[in-house]
Amino acid sequence: MRQGCISTGETQCDSCHHIIPYSERYLIVDEEKGKEVEKGKLMHYCVKCALKKGYAHYKEEKEGKVLTFFEEEDIEKKS
Ligand SMILES: [Zn+2]
Repeated sequence: MRQGCISTGETQCDSCHHIIPYSERYLIVDEEKGKEVEKGKLMHYCVKCALKKGYAHYKEEKEGKVLTFFEEEDIEKKS
């Protein structure tokens, strides 16, 4: 499961091991052996690593590029 969060400045990225700066977005993913699962180990990724791993992507909106951590259908399910 994916969860988009805002850093308190104390969260470390589990991929690049950098501290995610205060108020920056990051992603929590349930992972098992490097694969996304419903329930597994909680991994924290900064935006850069989330993009690299394919968990995040930029969507073209009228206002410009918008970063999203979710697939199109996930957003529809949530609203
Ligand atoms: Zn990172």
